[in-house]
Amino acid sequence: MITEEATNSLIKMFPRLSFAANADQFLLTAKQKPISLQLKERRIVEFREMQTLGAGIIVRDDGNICVVFADWADPQSRPQSLGHEIGHTFGLDLTYRIPKRIRQKHTPIQIVEEFCDKFAECWLALHDKEKIRQLIESELRLKLELITSCNI
Ligand SMILES: [Zn+2]
Repeated sequence: MITEEATNSLIKMFPRLSFAANADQFLLTAKQKPISLQLKERRIVEFREMQTLGAGIIVRDDGNICVVFADWADPQSRPQSLGHEIGHTFGLDLTYRIPKRIRQKHTPIQIVEEFCDKFAECWLALHDKEKIRQLIESELRLKLELITSCNI
């Protein structure tokens, strides 16, 4: 059952973040949609493993989004990272061909990070974490195979 409480939770917790309402809206229907469709809605089309300090998102030249995972990170932590990074996409206005950052005046970056953590928690609660982990791994493996075969 979807309660009023659940539908408004992020905007209630983060009233200073205008985009939290969009995230609530997304979560409301997330359970009924395949993960692949949810990613598409947030314009996430690519996963990459890189030597970075942590996970992040890259807006590509075509305006679509690549989620980057740190190559040293425990694969078990990746579903949480993906949820967090999906959270960050709400800070972008995706109606533009090249997404624009939504400015939040006088909002410390820490608040946005807390929002993304909370979003990840809510999103993971709706899904099977292991399935998400497998999806990430298979996408990353597929990429690795492509790179390998191109090098022949
Ligand atoms: Zn973050």
